[in-house]
Amino acid sequence: MDVDENLTGVGWTGLMTAYSRAHESLREDRMFNDPLAAAVVAAANRVGSVTGPRLPRLGPAINDEASSLWNLFSFYFAHRTVFYDSRLLNAIDAGCRQIVLLGAGFDGRAFRLGLPEDAIIFEIDQASVLAFKERVVLRHSLIPHCSRVPLWVDLREEIAGPLVAGGFRPERQTVWIAEGLLMYFTRAEADRLLDRVSALSTTGSRFISEYFTRQWKYEDVNYELLDDRDRVVWDLLKWEFPNNPVLQEPGDWLASHGWQVRTCTTVGEFGRSAGREVPPEFATSDGADIWLFDGAKGG
Ligand code: SAM
Repeated sequence: MDVDENLTGVGWTGLMTAYSRAHESLREDRMFNDPLAAAVVAAANRVGSVTGPRLPRLGPAINDEASSLWNLFSFYFAHRTVFYDSRLLNAIDAGCRQIVLLGAGFDGRAFRLGLPEDAIIFEIDQASVLAFKERVVLRHSLIPHCSRVPLWVDLREEIAGPLVAGGFRPERQTVWIAEGLLMYFTRAEADRLLDRVSALSTTGSRFISEYFTRQWKYEDVNYELLDDRDRVVWDLLKWEFPNNPVLQEPGDWLASHGWQVRTCTTVGEFGRSAGREVPPEFATSDGADIWLFDGAKGG
């Protein structure tokens, strides 16, 4: 598959997330190991597999620490992955067995987290992303630990019909994961999605997500120090995410939709507690950051 033709736009950012997970998986002090991510990077480079200590470059993604911009993204993607893993496993411990990935991208949790066999995971995304992912899964003979149902749905539209047709049962407690998604949406679209999620969620269901603490500005990265390639990436990202959907603390946003916040942190704070060196962009008190949070549906 030609990545440039078929995975442009929003699919491209999913690829960047996979790259950072593959990169993390190669580290000696790795926080997780994601075999799907390495397989996706290989397929995107049109090679059978990636071997050795370094990944091939993929657009702005590079694992030689040379790009301060990529170091920032990589830190963000790897730490948010750990946050979502821990909140998902917490919900599984509490008895949830139905999982919906909203904007699944190349999420490999079905293959790497040891989810219970009686769990079911619905992976919602656009058709080109799902088709690419299925080809990679088949080529690398990756076996999910639980039932897995890919669903092609536009998350700006109604989700109930396709989910129920795919086997989703609203009466079961559900863990909804909207990882790296809400920044694509306007405030009204984010509200509509959470309304639809709420209508399909029984008491005790969980919602795990993230959004920017404020809109990112040019001066939030050291623009003068970026090379030309990274400047293009930064400009592109600012164009891709013109709206910060929810200019409200996550606890307040969740409460306005009938959910109670359970945990709320930021990438900077979570990263500091994990013990790695925090990129300077996340180390300043007035810098932009990303909320990471989960909530439970009230009765
Ligand atoms: N959650 C995945 C992860 O963390 O690896 C993917 C994150 S990626 C940054 C965002 C994903 O959301 C992309 O795969 C994109 O195709 C999907 N997406 C964005 N807008 C969407 C929409 N309106 N409907 C369905 N999927 C969408």
